[in-house]
Amino acid sequence: MEKTERQLTVCKTIDEIRQVVKQLKQQGESIALVPTMGALHEGHISLFRHAKETADVVVASIFVNPAQFGPNEDFETYPRRLEEDLEICSNEGVSYVFAPARNEIYYNEKYLTIQIELLNKHLCGASRPGFFEGILLIVNKLFNIIRPDSAVFGQKDYQQFKIIEQMRAEFNHPVELVMAPIIRANDGLALSSRNTYLSDEERVIAPGLYRCLQYIAEQVSGGVDQPKLLIEHQRAELEAKGFRVDYLDVYTSDTLQPVTELKKNRRYLLAGAVYLGDTRLIDNLLLDL
Ligand code: AMP
Repeated sequence: MEKTERQLTVCKTIDEIRQVVKQLKQQGESIALVPTMGALHEGHISLFRHAKETADVVVASIFVNPAQFGPNEDFETYPRRLEEDLEICSNEGVSYVFAPARNEIYYNEKYLTIQIELLNKHLCGASRPGFFEGILLIVNKLFNIIRPDSAVFGQKDYQQFKIIEQMRAEFNHPVELVMAPIIRANDGLALSSRNTYLSDEERVIAPGLYRCLQYIAEQVSGGVDQPKLLIEHQRAELEAKGFRVDYLDVYTSDTLQPVTELKKNRRYLLAGAVYLGDTRLIDNLLLDL
């Protein structure tokens, strides 16, 4: 275990973090976990702040999880900046960072995965086979290793949150889940570790996704209750601006199924995923009608 000046303790092994957790539990301290893949930005920082409000001690995990990357995705090039990340954690009141090597976490996975029903049929689940199974694998491990009282995730990955919430319920994980709002750049672009892939030109275009979501949300709150044509039109607009649209639609906020007719007094998820060059961007808004 390695202690930095600000008393941030970095644990690289499961044994080390388990020892920490055991001690904290003996002292009666509650633990909030914030799982991340590092390359930390203001979005992650906001999760640390939420975490601090829910428990005595904040533990962050930093692990680029190979199980959630497809064969043609960016696992190799995903930004890794552990030293800077630790500095951020220590400035933001994180007490412990669990930053394991790949073979500390995955050494014998051959026979089991967690199969997901319904909730991954659409949105990112449709275009990234195995993605959410990979996420459940790591989150399940983290919950078992760290046994947090609460865990904080971002609304940016709304589908991820709903799938983890389902796992929590069905596997009886005794953890309270907190969903924190999306943090954006001044021009509206949702912050993401992948934004560093964008060229200057693409970075100028990128907030167009959020503007498109906002426009659809305004039309819906203005009374449009069958948004199919509106969405088709916005999709074409995005393509004309240089985006390649993976999905753009309105979904039930609980079961994540596409909807054609919106009803009053319901919550919906308006979500989009696009590519700008090779960079995948996602964003969403919750619509409370
Ligand atoms: P990642 O490191 O991308 O796996 O994200 C770790 C956590 O940070 C997830 O719960 C994300 O939903 C959350 N997150 C990522 N970007 C943002 C953002 N812009 N605002 C709020 N939370 C975010």
